[in-house]
Amino acid sequence: MRKGIAVSPGIAIGTAYCIHEIFVNPDTKRLADSQVTAELARYESARDRTSADLRALQRKVATQVGQREASIFAVHESILRDAAFTNKIRGWIVDDRMTSQAALHRLLNEYTSLFARTRDEYLKERLNDVRDVVVRLSAHLSEVLQSDSHVLEGPLIVVADELLPSQVVALGNADVHAIVTQGGSQTSHAAIIARSRGVPAVSGIRGILRQVKTGDRLVVDGREGGVLINPDAETIRAYRKLEREFFDLKDHLAENRDQEPVTADGARIELLANINNVADARAATAMGASGVGLFRTEYLFLTHPDVPDEDEQLDVYRQIIAASPNHAVTIRTLDIGGDKTVPYLGHTHQEANPFMGWRSIRLSFEHPEFFNIQLRAVLRSAAIAAEMGGSVRLMFPMVTTLEEMRRVRGMVRKASSQLRRERKPQAEVPIGMMLEVPAAAVSIESLLDAVDFVSIGSNDLVQYLMAADRDNPKVSHLYQPLAPPVLRVLSDVIKTCVKAKKPVTLCGEMAGQPRAFLALLGMGLNSFSMSPAFIPSMKDLAMHITSGAAKQILRRALHLRTTAAVKRFLAEQINEIAPNLALLDSA
Ligand code: PEP
Ligand code: MG
Repeated sequence: MRKGIAVSPGIAIGTAYCIHEIFVNPDTKRLADSQVTAELARYESARDRTSADLRALQRKVATQVGQREASIFAVHESILRDAAFTNKIRGWIVDDRMTSQAALHRLLNEYTSLFARTRDEYLKERLNDVRDVVVRLSAHLSEVLQSDSHVLEGPLIVVADELLPSQVVALGNADVHAIVTQGGSQTSHAAIIARSRGVPAVSGIRGILRQVKTGDRLVVDGREGGVLINPDAETIRAYRKLEREFFDLKDHLAENRDQEPVTADGARIELLANINNVADARAATAMGASGVGLFRTEYLFLTHPDVPDEDEQLDVYRQIIAASPNHAVTIRTLDIGGDKTVPYLGHTHQEANPFMGWRSIRLSFEHPEFFNIQLRAVLRSAAIAAEMGGSVRLMFPMVTTLEEMRRVRGMVRKASSQLRRERKPQAEVPIGMMLEVPAAAVSIESLLDAVDFVSIGSNDLVQYLMAADRDNPKVSHLYQPLAPPVLRVLSDVIKTCVKAKKPVTLCGEMAGQPRAFLALLGMGLNSFSMSPAFIPSMKDLAMHITSGAAKQILRRALHLRTTAAVKRFLAEQINEIAPNLALLDSA
């Protein structure tokens, strides 16, 4: 069994489908003479589509962001059209009978070793541009591949280095039963996507793409964080049994979807959903969420072929609101940078510390025109929600200071008066901050004056408090949501918000983890936002415990001095309160 980090619970058995083989597992198949012409045509077609993408991107970025930002796509197109680039690929297809994917892989290797010898930073940057072009080309090639063959059938286990949002879109409705990645961690894209689909996932298995090829049989154990490659029949039988138990438990819990979320002593709690797209909004409704507590809008930008304009954004928000439970949606503005980037916002240079750098609201401030478009679309969507009998809340990520909060409020006012002048329908929205930065946690009291609500982004807050990059497997042992100092900070923040009567929610992944949920309930938190798949089990857990008992448990947990002791203690409590949930607790 290869071990990694357990990032989404459950058991799955299926056929491996490896993504991004181009970089790690090149196609070694040789073309037959009769296939060469077709392969050249396939490459040409992928190149034309890539070229069309790049031109569209350039036009849109120029009008919405600026000429300077758009120019990068002109550079990309010139790389794509570069005679040396094209001749090499064609030559390898014709002379060496290589597939286009294999030729691209060889080209990238050549460029990489060539560029490795230069000290020139500018030239080094250009390698990233070549890589970007190759990835785009490769994506178009695999699209063609996928429609050609039927690789995407049956229970699939996606194996990738790290799953990019665009690749998730490309998977469409494929029957994905688990996700395995080489990089990433608890809060990476792949983990978040797996949890939103309710499928098991394991991250941080170095080199697995070299061991596994498409078509291999895999077993994924999302509780232990393990992957078995081509196991024998007996092992498969044993895991089949566990897999069935996992499905049965999920089905059983999902039956509580129409029950009120209340604790055993009748205190009402809000179980909201974290969503990335319309499919997630539907899942939120199906799982019995009472609203959407976090709509991550960056996926709209990351998966759009170019830049979504105001009407396109509004259209997506409309669809999301229509599909969401009670048409109640908290929209978070673009949270790009850190682990997620789009090329048109000036993210061409790698930062040394991306998570502490130019991301989220910091980046939005530097593109006021672009930001304004999103604010306008959100305000307009609020009018649509009101018509449906629902509501929209607007939330800003990574707020660090009071000045920032005042500044965003000013920007919202400006967007609103523009719409008023243009006589476009809009509605007022509550404005909230995500509490993700330790400085904001320390100064929460003064920040509360400037916000209508708070949502604790524990995924980020934990990484900043523990100084442990959420996506770096090497420090994942320090990424501890249940560490005593983390519990203390969370407890203080929640207490302050409750005392000031400011609505407070927690929307990090810990909201859907039984042990953490129990501790948060004990802190007096009554609003939780999580991947839709976890809502039934957290509802089940809440129904089995009184608020008083949860408070007692927290009080005892706060006296423990190590994370291991906290985890052990809370696991014992869960075992007493709702033993069946153990199958759903990961790592
Ligand atoms: C968080 O940081 O907890 C959060 C919910 O936001 P994201 O995971 O998108 O950074
Ligand atoms: Mg965050």
